[in-house]
Amino acid sequence: MGMCGTLMILGLCLGIFNFGRPEVRLYASLQIVYALFSGYLFILAMKNRHTLWQTHLYSYSLAFLVLLGIYLAKLESFLLAWAFTLPIIFYLLLGRKAGKLITLTMMLSIMVIIYPKLPSFRPVMTNFAFSYLLIWAISHIYESNRESAELALHKLALTDPLTGTNNRLSLQERFNQSTQVSEHKPLTLLLLDVDHFKQVNDNFGHVAGDDVLKSIANLLTKYTDDLDLFRIGGEEFCIFLHNSSTQESLTLAQTLRANVERETFVSQGLKIQATISIGVTLFKEDMQLCDLLRSADEQLYRAKLSGRNRVMHNLVPAIEEEVMAQTAPLVT
Ligand code: GH3
Ligand code: MG
Ligand code: MG
Repeated sequence: MGMCGTLMILGLCLGIFNFGRPEVRLYASLQIVYALFSGYLFILAMKNRHTLWQTHLYSYSLAFLVLLGIYLAKLESFLLAWAFTLPIIFYLLLGRKAGKLITLTMMLSIMVIIYPKLPSFRPVMTNFAFSYLLIWAISHIYESNRESAELALHKLALTDPLTGTNNRLSLQERFNQSTQVSEHKPLTLLLLDVDHFKQVNDNFGHVAGDDVLKSIANLLTKYTDDLDLFRIGGEEFCIFLHNSSTQESLTLAQTLRANVERETFVSQGLKIQATISIGVTLFKEDMQLCDLLRSADEQLYRAKLSGRNRVMHNLVPAIEEEVMAQTAPLVT
């Protein structure tokens, strides 16, 4: 946005100034058109409504304008100096991949354009090439660092720091992806809650509770895709299953439940038993994420009411819910 604003002001100033010179009036008109395009993109960027192709078009227009200027102007006008701003602008606008390509193309094009204008080839060409390469290298390093910092921040924002699974924030993103991409494939949600977890904390301490949560998350990752496991509350997890049949979903839910029940969790030398209850539901057309969660929560609530350490669902065709014996959650 800042870039569009700056180029708009610059383009307007240069365009108006050059318009007074009849020999470059056409070029000045192009500068003014470019300034207006910058203004248009500036407004779109303010509303966050600019698209990728507009950014590309904007960059290529700038490249064309600079190349035309260098071609038309005499070498003494020093219009060549504008070329040194290009790597920075292209990397900022287009990112590393496309920025690299257009920066290279510009460098070669400029060298081809200025070659016939040079009285002696070596010094101007060498100085141009090396200073352009230096600015290019700095832009590349800067953009690479910025991209990896952005990636790390993005991952940090979407990851639960305790268990390393996805957090609640990433759930909405994944839900949107899943419901858009697999419109006609069934999407099942498993909502898991550790039974009587407060007692784990009360009896063994908060650190032990944390260790149990980490171990449960670890166990769940063995049965699910990393992208589809979320910790959405203190001792609540959820899992998306894509394109699974009713039978497959319920079998997996029972496997998870049984494995947690079987596991002996160890923290600070203490042995801890835990169980989970699971509510299973299916995504239906026009459901929002909150509707899907509410539907799974109703099933989870039924599982809790009927004694915990159970799987309850509202899937059709209804399958007899397997009633598992409730086990005491804590064993030392
Ligand atoms: P229920 O079977 O009905 O789910 O009982 P519960 O005790 O698991 O449920 P409740 O909602 O009463 O208590 C949840 C407990 O989870 C309370 C809170 O101390 C604990 N908890 C939440 N987040 C964390 C966490 O990050 N670490 C630890 N150690 N405990 C947590
Ligand atoms: Mg609980
Ligand atoms: Mg809970």
